[in-house]
Amino acid sequence: MAHARFDDRVAVVTGAGRGLGREYALLLARLGAKVVVNDPGGALTGEGDDAGPAQQVVDEITAAGGDAVASTESVATAVGGQAIIGAATRHYGRIDVLIHNAGIVRRAPLTEMTAEDFDAVLDVHLRGAFHVVRAAFPVMCQAGYGRVVLTSSIGGVYGNHAVANYAAAKAGITGLSNVVALEGAEHGVRCNVIVPAAVTRMAEGLDTSAYPPMGADLVAPVVGWLAHESCSITGEILTAIAGRVARIVVVESAGVYQPAWTVDAVGARIDEIRDISNPLVFPVVPDGHGAHIGHSFAMAKGTQ
Ligand code: NAD
Repeated sequence: MAHARFDDRVAVVTGAGRGLGREYALLLARLGAKVVVNDPGGALTGEGDDAGPAQQVVDEITAAGGDAVASTESVATAVGGQAIIGAATRHYGRIDVLIHNAGIVRRAPLTEMTAEDFDAVLDVHLRGAFHVVRAAFPVMCQAGYGRVVLTSSIGGVYGNHAVANYAAAKAGITGLSNVVALEGAEHGVRCNVIVPAAVTRMAEGLDTSAYPPMGADLVAPVVGWLAHESCSITGEILTAIAGRVARIVVVESAGVYQPAWTVDAVGARIDEIRDISNPLVFPVVPDGHGAHIGHSFAMAKGTQ
């Protein structure tokens, strides 16, 4: 079987100076892609900047015979998003792959989290995703081809302590991805979410001594497939952690219909309402929104 290649493809990877993003950039470049390595190089909390990390990844790629260019703009503004995507179109004349991976962390329990810390994290993860997608999406639609991978987190799916900002941003990413998938479907643009886990600087302060092998190299091939033309899915969520690759879905119970409800009736039937022994999954594309409404209306009309 032929190995997947990215020859003639142009990829933008945000936050590619370190950690997971660096691994994605190196993999795609190794497989023939021209890569925009975006990273302003700041601290884990987002403060400061350093052109070094992005340039080092570019140097590594070019030393191995690949083609890459550094971009040190921040994803956190619309101007930054335009500049990052502009680096791809200016240098390489196109953009085929967008991987939004940039991230920062500002931990604090809800009782102590400041509005500034909430906004700073949303600015990079969620608004950052919008800024780069907003700049890349019309170019991809015009070309009739695109692969977008946005980054969520276990915390965005299940929550975690002391990261209300991060969890909210990462959950929002899924909502954005779903709309990119829906609006991109007729233009050959596919969009999916990766829920990665790897020991990077984001694990600083955690005791990882009992972890199984959990390098970024165990995540990168999954993102590589989502970024490849052979990717056959859109509007989905894949997770990759310590060698386990899985799909994450939103599940609904079949539901219970009554023509009228009281608080007591909800309480009396809560076990039936919550019963997911026959789970329903409404795929985002072509029309999960319509399928949800259709199922509900069918129950109301007695046709379900
Ligand atoms: P990392 O800190 O090693 O890398 C993140 C990179 O993003 C850094 O190099 C940083 O400079 C860059 N960045 C920060 N702000 C930016 C901005 N405004 N514009 C562009 N780049 C910016 O962390 P990582 O673990 O490699 O995380 C990568 C992504 O994966 C993040 O979105 C993170 O939330 C997500 N994630 C990681 C894990 C994990 O286990 N490591 C788990 C869940 C989700």
